[in-house]
Amino acid sequence: MIGLTDYHIHSVLSDGKNTHEEMIQAAIEKGLAEIGFSDHVCLKPVEWAINHVDLPVMVQQIQHLKEKYQDQITIKLGAEVDYLEGMEDEIAKLIDTLPLDYVIGSVHFIGDWNFDVDKSLYGKWSNDRLYEIYFDLIQKAARTGLFDIIGHMDIIKKFRVYPESNQSQLFDETLEIIKDQNLVVELNTGGFDRPCAEFTPSPAIIERCFHYKIPVTLTSDAHRTEQIGRHFDSAVNLLKSVGYQELVRFNKRVRSIATF
Ligand SMILES: [Zn+2]
Ligand SMILES: [Zn+2]
Repeated sequence: MIGLTDYHIHSVLSDGKNTHEEMIQAAIEKGLAEIGFSDHVCLKPVEWAINHVDLPVMVQQIQHLKEKYQDQITIKLGAEVDYLEGMEDEIAKLIDTLPLDYVIGSVHFIGDWNFDVDKSLYGKWSNDRLYEIYFDLIQKAARTGLFDIIGHMDIIKKFRVYPESNQSQLFDETLEIIKDQNLVVELNTGGFDRPCAEFTPSPAIIERCFHYKIPVTLTSDAHRTEQIGRHFDSAVNLLKSVGYQELVRFNKRVRSIATF
């Protein structure tokens, strides 16, 4: 896996099970060239996100570890930030306080419903309608200009909830906005180990990403050491098979391209 990056890694500061340093050592063993931490940053008071008083600790720790491991691996500071409709200004202010290399924008909430944790409201709408509601939020997130990367774009399928009818038009419309907004899509391999047993987004959507020339980054959504770089061989095969030859990297929110 020489030259590969993994930009979606959680630590104990949010809902990960290992420390930054344990995750770094696992990434070195895995042979990754570069990793980025992306602990949850959320304006709602949820137990799976970093406590805001810990944000300076996170910044300090990563800075220290960046230097300590600089001869072995490149380390970036990212964040997985929740898009919450109507709270764009507060989200912008929070992001501005952090010296981030990149920001992953994710949708985990429909209103107050934390749908990737809480299964209670599935069935309230038709699945087609649920997909429309969810992708409308992804489109709004993409248009805010707050984010660099769209996180696990079709995570609404997590619990094997699929639309009743073909939604390829909705996916295409969303990808057109992502392209217009000059954003990156992550190929998140974590979905493979969730009930949906598929990468997020799906191979079909990744093919459409290439059609729209949307840059991608490869991520594992690791919450423990053994998940770092998971399923990257098959993810690389997928990316190559649809035509990708490059992955995106970030430094201080400026994008560059690396061939893989
Ligand atoms: Zn997420
Ligand atoms: Zn995550």
